Amino acid sequence: MEILDTDILVIGAGLSGLRAACSALERSPHLRVSVATLKKGPSGSSFANRNNALGIQIPLTDSEKNDYVKEVLALAKPGFVKPYLVKIMAEEASEAYEFLKGLEVRFKSDEGGPSRFKGCFSNVERAFVFEDLHHFYESFSGMFRSLGGDFLAGLRAVSFLVDDDGVHGALFADESGNDVAVRAGAVIAALGGPAGMWKYNITGPGQSGYSYGMLHRAGVELKNAGFVQFMWAEVKSGNFVPPGQLFRKENRLAAMAEPFYFGDMTLSSHEEQFRQRNTHCPVSWGLEDRSLDVTLASCRNEDGVVVVQLGDGEWIGVAPMAHSGNGGAVIDEFGRTGVRGLYCCGECATGMHGADRIGGGMVLSGMVFGKRAGEHAAKSVRTIPSKDRLRGLCSGQNYCTPSQREQLAEMLQSDATILCSRACFKWKRELDATRENESLTALAIVRDLCHLEEMKFAASRRSSAT
Ligand SMILES: Cc1cc2nc3c(=O)[nH]c(=O)nc-3n(C[C@H](O)[C@H](O)[C@H](O)COP(=O)(O)OP(=O)(O)OC[C@H]3O[C@@H](n4cnc5c(N)ncnc54)[C@H](O)[C@@H]3O)c2cc1C
Repeated sequence: MEILDTDILVIGAGLSGLRAACSALERSPHLRVSVATLKKGPSGSSFANRNNALGIQIPLTDSEKNDYVKEVLALAKPGFVKPYLVKIMAEEASEAYEFLKGLEVRFKSDEGGPSRFKGCFSNVERAFVFEDLHHFYESFSGMFRSLGGDFLAGLRAVSFLVDDDGVHGALFADESGNDVAVRAGAVIAALGGPAGMWKYNITGPGQSGYSYGMLHRAGVELKNAGFVQFMWAEVKSGNFVPPGQLFRKENRLAAMAEPFYFGDMTLSSHEEQFRQRNTHCPVSWGLEDRSLDVTLASCRNEDGVVVVQLGDGEWIGVAPMAHSGNGGAVIDEFGRTGVRGLYCCGECATGMHGADRIGGGMVLSGMVFGKRAGEHAAKSVRTIPSKDRLRGLCSGQNYCTPSQREQLAEMLQSDATILCSRACFKWKRELDATRENESLTALAIVRDLCHLEEMKFAASRRSSAT
């Protein structure tokens, strides 16, 4: 088995991984910092998403910061959130903005300078949007290289190498399937979220989707894993379909059983929900307008597709597509997980948002906690373990075969998408016995969904008893 050495190993080359890697080198230029990733070039949701643009929440004034914190906390229910992490994000947003300006990202602007927009779930024009993600990648990766960092591309991370004393590196498979171990004094997980595991998804490429599984196996505490964001998109093209277009009263749904007119729901009692639903693209977990999506999702056919006839007579097939996750490792203000030397940032970390997240909040989180994780790892890096010690920790490969993965993708799509079906409870028991990273990610998600279902059931029993 090949063994490589570095001081700080960052896994994942999205914006959070690169931010962590650059900040480690800025703090301690003498350290070796390596970024390992599945594929060469832009990957993940950061640089390769189909919109070719990203929004970032940047509260500038004290009052904007207070409002931002309030909005994030209000949206976090029924998920888990650490308010002090939200405050840190608000406080350090301006710094993230300056950093992006330093990378010369291309902000959408008008004559007065960069324009500000409302993010999903927010009524405040506080986000900046930058375009041309290829340029963003070139600029960011160029900065990392010029600081002296190196990429280890073509490596699929399989497990963190952990013992009672913390993390000592990670085990990878190279493109031919051979084991490669990397010894390191600190490891930063920036592997992105789970959305790539769903049959229908609109996440970026190069996503294994099993960050939660790897973190779970390493003994890291996970929260909010069930709160995956789904957006309605056309199955044929993958293009996002605005909810406002679907929820028009003239649309007709070809439901599984009896067709009905969606317009039946446009009773005045639903007016507020329709209005609210148009303020966010992802399906909400905590707002009342969720019931509209639940209704729509219950009309999926056996392929998981809702067939809708639009007012102009055209039929389209739409499905809820996994877009990104709001869950992951519970971290502290320095990106530390409970495992010594193992840090986490970006879409595989949580606590700075809960069930629902303001659009533009994830990029901010990746920039702020990526920076913090990199700095702290550089300050606290330990000596790398001996090769013999490392070999003893290499526990073999634990990821699914393509057909197992396909099965999981089908299962997540049919039973763990917006609705938590009864089958989830069965899956939970079956997945409990598994060891593969993908299955463990699915287990974390399904466990959360079942817990949520049980809480809802208990609440409805309590209210019917009173
Ligand atoms: C279409 C789309 C639009 C979005 N728009 C916005 C927006 O406007 N604002 C916002 O805040 N958020 C937005 N998001 C979410 C946001 O883009 C992502 O959450 C964020 O970019 C994630 O960054 P990251 O660095 O954590 O992970 P990613 O950018 O996903 O990077 C993960 C990295 O890990 C690598 N990797 C994964 N698994 C392995 C493995 N097993 N071994 C080795 N490497 C691995 C990947 O190849 C990649 O390099 C959007 C997401 C999508 C899909």
